[in-house]
Amino acid sequence: MATCVANDRAAWLTGPRTTCSHPPSAPTRVWRLVLLGPPGVGKGTQASLLVNRIGACHLSTGDVFRAAKSMKACDLSPAMRQALEYMKRGDLVPDSTVLSMLQERAGCLRCSGGFLLDGFPRTVAQADALEKLLDENQVKLDAVLNYDLPIDQIVARLSGRRTCTSCKAVYHVPNNPPKVEGVCDTCHGKIIQREDDKPEIVRNRMEIYNRSTAPLIDFYEKRKLLVTVSADGSPEKVMNATWQQLTHLASDPQD
Ligand code: AMP
Repeated sequence: MATCVANDRAAWLTGPRTTCSHPPSAPTRVWRLVLLGPPGVGKGTQASLLVNRIGACHLSTGDVFRAAKSMKACDLSPAMRQALEYMKRGDLVPDSTVLSMLQERAGCLRCSGGFLLDGFPRTVAQADALEKLLDENQVKLDAVLNYDLPIDQIVARLSGRRTCTSCKAVYHVPNNPPKVEGVCDTCHGKIIQREDDKPEIVRNRMEIYNRSTAPLIDFYEKRKLLVTVSADGSPEKVMNATWQQLTHLASDPQD
């Protein structure tokens, strides 16, 4: 079974036949987390900060689809080609496609280093399927971190968000621009505005979030897994609030 504690996301991003390159190790506390929240709330940024602390892989379904976008059309399955059309419009990719992708990569969910799911589940059907898959693998979620932010702040964040096409570092114009316009500070990759961060697509994504994903708040509240964190403030401030909530959970005995 693939095990990985160094955020080696190759297996998740490139497909079921790729295995993790990092050997297993024994982290002091294994975390299995889901990040929830509307588009633009800063889940991706929090995920990057969190994985540095917890040593688990950051598994983002959106990243898998974006990775597929840069592949040649002839290398993509018909389902994946269709998925990219949904993504371009800001619509959700059909549950069946997302779930078969998850099934293929179920090894990542069994990883002894834990995991951090970002962008999945997105619908109640996906949450049901995840619950079933985790039960089958005798794996339990520790928490679902629900990031909360007023809508006007979300719109401001999304319209200024810029992303590195190589390392996925996130910038913001004008709050946190790269040192050289269009060039990533970290890897010198090209910085772009994601197609789905454009205003008309953002409106569609927000509607879809309210209709399809917001019901998951109730779903996980009922299972006593929901931990709500205010996403207002700098990434470091939000990270500290997140960590405070997680350490509070960790002080309760694990069952
Ligand atoms: P994200 O980066 O998580 O905002 O995802 C970008 C896009 O990928 C979304 O707008 C959807 O089109 C697609 N996507 C990512 N994750 C899922 C999912 N779990 N279910 C359906 N569509 C998804």
